[in-house]
Amino acid sequence: MNAHNSLDFKALIEARKREISDTRARFSRDTGAVELDQSKVGRLSRMDAMQIQEMNLEAERRRNRELAALDHALNRIENQNYGICSECDEDINPKRLEVDPVALLCINCASKLEQSW
Ligand SMILES: [Zn+2]
Repeated sequence: MNAHNSLDFKALIEARKREISDTRARFSRDTGAVELDQSKVGRLSRMDAMQIQEMNLEAERRRNRELAALDHALNRIENQNYGICSECDEDINPKRLEVDPVALLCINCASKLEQSW
């Protein structure tokens, strides 16, 4: 993969990180609102609020995993092994990386792995 492509993916990954951070900032404000309302609402609504909070926590865990994967991808760009399949050392198709910039496997290895499951 040439340097030009790596730079494009760096911008793509950083844009995605910003998106997640923005979502997180909105989410923090939302949770604050739910907690304030809890003192005023009845038992059922409180359970709803708890369920929403549980879902929010799961979404937060997902965001943390995605941020970690994005940071990992940025490290690989720094180390110039970004876009190389961790299974067979072939270049990962840039089209695949555009869809999933944190992909670690080329399409061949990824589909082999799926078949073995
Ligand atoms: Zn591969």
